Amino acid sequence: MKENQCLKDAYGWGMDTLKKAGVTEYAIDAFYLLEFVTGVSRGNYYANPEAMIGEEDLQKYQSLIQKRSRKIPLQHLTMEQEFMGLKFYVNEDVLIPRQDSETLVEEALGEIENESKVLDMCTGSGCLLLSLLKHTRKKNVEGTGVDISPDALRVAKRNAENLGVDAVFFQSDLFQQVEGRFQMILSNPPYIRKEEINSLEEEVKIHDPMLALDGGEDGLDFYRRIIEMSPNHLTEEGILIFEIGYDQADDVVQLLKMKDFHGIVVKKDLTGLDRVVKA
Ligand code: GLN
Repeated sequence: MKENQCLKDAYGWGMDTLKKAGVTEYAIDAFYLLEFVTGVSRGNYYANPEAMIGEEDLQKYQSLIQKRSRKIPLQHLTMEQEFMGLKFYVNEDVLIPRQDSETLVEEALGEIENESKVLDMCTGSGCLLLSLLKHTRKKNVEGTGVDISPDALRVAKRNAENLGVDAVFFQSDLFQQVEGRFQMILSNPPYIRKEEINSLEEEVKIHDPMLALDGGEDGLDFYRRIIEMSPNHLTEEGILIFEIGYDQADDVVQLLKMKDFHGIVVKKDLTGLDRVVKA
């Protein structure tokens, strides 16, 4: 690629390179990185595609496109992912927030009460808890997030700080270090079954932490353990909200019934798949 380029040339080269490398969303990704580097929005771009791109920006853009060609996820190049309209810092220590998980936060927003305590079990980047706290209009909601991974907790704390949200994060293997009762427990635990791990998309398998995906032999290990222990950590009217895999609703509902949970509801995500169970 030659030096001294206008935006249009750089974008064209970016698309071409990604397309050749077999990146499916090559046009979207090439533009996303162009905007990330130059700050030029789509509106600015179409108003003046001949605007020149600075040398430093061009080099940065080229290097990012090359990395993207090697199938490094966009979010690991930009170190950010939008979730519930908020910008989250991410790295390879956490699962990249998925849009599907917004369904869980929407459910939680509908259920949360004033003066309540919320626990996010397996918090990862903190995206569930922090977007709930940021968006709720309820007063005096206290948030706690736990995770087994100290590296993930560093990411969650950084996000709390960036977003200006007050929340407590600490390390715990599920409920081991957790004390007291909560009005709401949220969780998007690892839920991929052993035999499915190998068939995950390359980008997920290589770049998302296995610790955040592996749900054991039948994918239900964490639901079993959380459901088993959560009665000790929920208030009388407390509510448990899980994200689940598209084919796990029946199994998770069964586990909840065995522990005498009631008011069990399954919700679908925007693509029409079962995604959330609350009880
Ligand atoms: N939804 C994630 C995926 O697509 C899995 C998340 C999880 O295991 N909690 O891989």
